[in-house]
Amino acid sequence: MNSSTVDHSLRDLSDLKELREAFQGELLSPGDGAFDKARRIWNGMIDRRPAVIARCRSASDVSAAVRYARGARLPLSVRCGGHNVAGTSVVEGGVLIDLSPMRRVRVDAENRIAEADGGCLLRDVDLATAEHGLACPAGVFSYTGLSGLALGGGYGWRARKWGLTCDHIVSAEVVLADGSVVEASADRHQDLLWALRGGGGNFGIVTKFRLRLRPVGSFLVRTGLYAGDDAAAALRVYRAFTETLSDDFHLLGGLRHAKPADPVPDGLRGRPVLEFLSVCSADEEKSRAEADALFAALPQAPVTEKVMTYLELQTMGDEGAPDGRRYYTKSGYVSELSDEAVDRLVAAAGANPSGTGSIDIEFLLGAIARGSTDDSAFPQRQAPFMVSAYGSWDDPELDGPGIAWARQTVADLREWECPGGYVNYISLEDNPAGAVETYGADIYARLVRVKQQYDPENLFRGTRAVAPAGNGNAT
Ligand SMILES: Cc1cc2nc3c(=O)[nH]c(=O)nc-3n(C[C@H](O)[C@H](O)[C@H](O)COP(=O)(O)OP(=O)(O)OC[C@H]3O[C@@H](n4cnc5c(N)ncnc54)[C@H](O)[C@@H]3O)c2cc1C
Repeated sequence: MNSSTVDHSLRDLSDLKELREAFQGELLSPGDGAFDKARRIWNGMIDRRPAVIARCRSASDVSAAVRYARGARLPLSVRCGGHNVAGTSVVEGGVLIDLSPMRRVRVDAENRIAEADGGCLLRDVDLATAEHGLACPAGVFSYTGLSGLALGGGYGWRARKWGLTCDHIVSAEVVLADGSVVEASADRHQDLLWALRGGGGNFGIVTKFRLRLRPVGSFLVRTGLYAGDDAAAALRVYRAFTETLSDDFHLLGGLRHAKPADPVPDGLRGRPVLEFLSVCSADEEKSRAEADALFAALPQAPVTEKVMTYLELQTMGDEGAPDGRRYYTKSGYVSELSDEAVDRLVAAAGANPSGTGSIDIEFLLGAIARGSTDDSAFPQRQAPFMVSAYGSWDDPELDGPGIAWARQTVADLREWECPGGYVNYISLEDNPAGAVETYGADIYARLVRVKQQYDPENLFRGTRAVAPAGNGNAT
């Protein structure tokens, strides 16, 4: 059989008994009471039925599940936080290796290192490290899984100042395709460590990360809400400030429809607005002055300001993307926010068929750009902006228009497109053969060499699959 395809006629679950004997965690099959809940993830559009869900408690459980899937010639998927928008963590008819029971974090405050299990959510790491005044930079929703986020890169509020989450992986314990467990570090399996820093879940299953930590203070968070024509004007001010902005800042422009609770006049409810968010250190005098200058230059609008702890910062967006709705994301790197690009984005926000979701415009660079592709497989560090169209809705009838809207929003920026893509924002059916484009030829070629060494039979399919044959195809 071609190793990269799965012959379902070979599926034989009779040896599940054998797996049960080796397995300390919980095995769920269709018909088990907890099965349906365990197969559902954040994106309600994903409705797949694995043959078995292996809820692991240890690296040895993960190893047993990998050996079983390989022996039974079943496809497998790996779940941490279940936040991948394309639902890559849930395999149809195969073995779902669920790490969510593995959420222990140990902090070595003296050496500023956290040891986090492969099933941790970002909140697990944040809660444990905050006790010591330390943090590892990660994403902006605390229920996102550490593993998926870190292996694909990991943007967040502190990325411009500190770098990506993957830049903070010191070493990792990994279950390989043959079920063996290795430690990838600066001394051993260096190429594997390089690939895990941005190359996604293509090489093995990480059961433990060692993460570098940073001392953390408090944050000044300012939010302004701009309606109608002011949205375009505000985005132009945003663009101008990015030319001189210090790395301490993360700026986010979110084009969306005004919600009932927003402080806007009644006539603007349900109409497009720009929510502009600025996050910087509250302890830096220089940053406060920069924030003052920025908001003074923006059009007049209701502005709120709050000083937050790191934990408050990391959870402030949690309500924004509830589990179970239908989601589709399309994102792209952009070289400049030209006047024309700004006008197209404002128009696209008005055309959002569901009226929920947003178009987020993020300024990147800073420490992200200073990271090196010698140390990590993360491909696109020099793009100044990322634009992401986040579609969300409840009615399945909106799947077609919602997906088309997100795709069109990013397609309309083609003139300013930067090469590459962010593996963690790739959606369902989003050019599944595009790994070479995503990583670029040089990084992709190196990833293929690592894949050939560690997973020549292509057992692990990441969010952007790296094929051992090197042809960039997902299958
Ligand atoms: C609400 C929301 C907010 C987000 N915010 C951000 C953000 O601020 N910054 C950002 O960069 N991204 C963000 N993302 C994107 C996020 O990084 C990806 O969706 C990522 O895949 C989520 O990780 P997870 O562990 O929850 O994913 P899962 O869906 O559990 O897994 C996705 C894939 O990751 C791989 N994987 C997971 N665990 C392991 C493991 N232990 N070993 C090997 N491979 C593994 C597998 O290939 C799996 O298919 C956000 C997503 C959502 C839904």
